[in-house]
Amino acid sequence: MKRSERTRLRVKIRTPGGRNVYRFKQRRVGHATCGKCGCKLNRARLTKIQVKKLTKVQKRPSRPYPELCSKCMRLKIKGMLK
Ligand SMILES: [Zn+2]
Repeated sequence: MKRSERTRLRVKIRTPGGRNVYRFKQRRVGHATCGKCGCKLNRARLTKIQVKKLTKVQKRPSRPYPELCSKCMRLKIKGMLK
């Protein structure tokens, strides 16, 4: 199935050359959630192309267990979380 048949997310934009064209709107990625309690992590919701342009450090925190929220990470390190 073609992308034009799948989506209605089209936006009218004006190109630098002065033409009016329809382009597909990029969808934002879903919320990053904690792997244990499921709460939303404090990260920006960007489009897939915007995520690709970020560096590794900008994508997730550089601490132990980046897939967990800070509360769950603390419990995990203390050994209170299996
Ligand atoms: Zn959590």
